[in-house]
Amino acid sequence: MNTSLRPAVIAGNWKMNNTPSQAQALITQMLPLVKDASCQVVIGVPFVNLPLACQMCKGTNVKVAAQNCHWEEKGAFTGEISPQMLTELGVEYVILGHSERRTYFGETDESLNKRVLAALNAGLKVILCVGESLQQREANVTNEFVCMQVKLDLQNVSEEMLKNVIIAYEPIWAIGTGKTATAQQAQEVCKTIRACIASLYGKQAADGMTIQYGGSMNAGNAAELLSQEDIDGGLIGGASLKAPDFATIVAAAK
Ligand code: PEP
Repeated sequence: MNTSLRPAVIAGNWKMNNTPSQAQALITQMLPLVKDASCQVVIGVPFVNLPLACQMCKGTNVKVAAQNCHWEEKGAFTGEISPQMLTELGVEYVILGHSERRTYFGETDESLNKRVLAALNAGLKVILCVGESLQQREANVTNEFVCMQVKLDLQNVSEEMLKNVIIAYEPIWAIGTGKTATAQQAQEVCKTIRACIASLYGKQAADGMTIQYGGSMNAGNAAELLSQEDIDGGLIGGASLKAPDFATIVAAAK
């Protein structure tokens, strides 16, 4: 982390976990534990929990994220949620391009780019997820693959709009598997992503960009990962469902 250049952000991704009553209990337990955070804290909750989460986090240091959004403002898109629906609730962030969305719901870089543009145009901050599969890592194409995702997903995003983008590097083989990338592996790819941003937008934009690591980050390994120069925070799945563990990770980001 280099907080003199860019903000540190720890974001929880609850995925499809917690009913509204469970969400209420978890947020109630979490808020006091993270209130003195020196980084930005975000929780990404299921759509049905967004109104409650926004209400409970209002006036606190915790921001709320949705886990996806559509690119259109409204219309015949059954089951979808627009960026405008999110902002009206008080949602400030949206996680886009999570590998589970790409793998299980067929999201492509093309549709993701439309979501990114629509979300930014609506005033949301985007946490854009990229990352390689185990096969790609073993074939030694991680850096090229991740840069390709960054380039495709950020097409037509201006330098001004980029200020509202966080990139989360999430190796697919490390998500929910308990297999964390080593701090060196994670640092290498986050550094590569920063170089890719520099080639597209210049050094100043790259230096100012928050790049997170995600993939089995937990209370035990967060401090080492976050001590790396180019890792400015974390996107946390499983460990964000336990308030004390999440709070330990937040505390490590200082
Ligand atoms: C995630 O869902 O983005 C994630 C990193 O999950 P986990 O921390 O459980 O690996």
